[in-house]
Amino acid sequence: MEAVTSFAQYETQIRPENAEIIKQYREVARAFDKLWKAISVRSNQNSWRLESRGIGSCNGDSGISIFGPAKPDLFELRKRRNLETGGIRLAKACEFHRAGRGCVLGDLKSPLCLDYVDSLHGDEMQRRFKVGIFKMEPTLLRILSVNVSDDFVQMTVEKTQNMIDYIETFPVLHPEEL
Ligand code: SF4
Repeated sequence: MEAVTSFAQYETQIRPENAEIIKQYREVARAFDKLWKAISVRSNQNSWRLESRGIGSCNGDSGISIFGPAKPDLFELRKRRNLETGGIRLAKACEFHRAGRGCVLGDLKSPLCLDYVDSLHGDEMQRRFKVGIFKMEPTLLRILSVNVSDDFVQMTVEKTQNMIDYIETFPVLHPEEL
């Protein structure tokens, strides 16, 4: 059987038009993921920590929400990141979930996964931070399906960073996860 190329090798082989979509997607997904991490360490209600249930709050990979011309390349990158990331997998959890850590995908998470908020977590966010999180999925789907400008990407990242700066004014409840 032919060996799977590494993540880094695969990246160099992606056609330029798809590479551009993936670059934009990862920039925005990275900012969204960073926002979730800022919230997560300040929250007690993330059910991804309840690993006795064998699953994260996200409850199963939603790669189904990824589409467009760059989809096959995104899937290949996700597969390689998973293969190249250590940690303990839980039998009942999503294949990208690791015990004590949660999702390994980061900037390669699907639109649906980045958008997912379980109800307890959502309630706590509203009580503690007094914010509703904006919908992330439409922005990511837009990047995957039409040619968005780099200005749009930049503006989205800046808007998200403003929110992160605000969230970071609240105390950290889980310093061990920083
Ligand atoms: S891909 Fe990540 S966020 Fe999505 S269900 Fe799996 S572990 Fe959860």
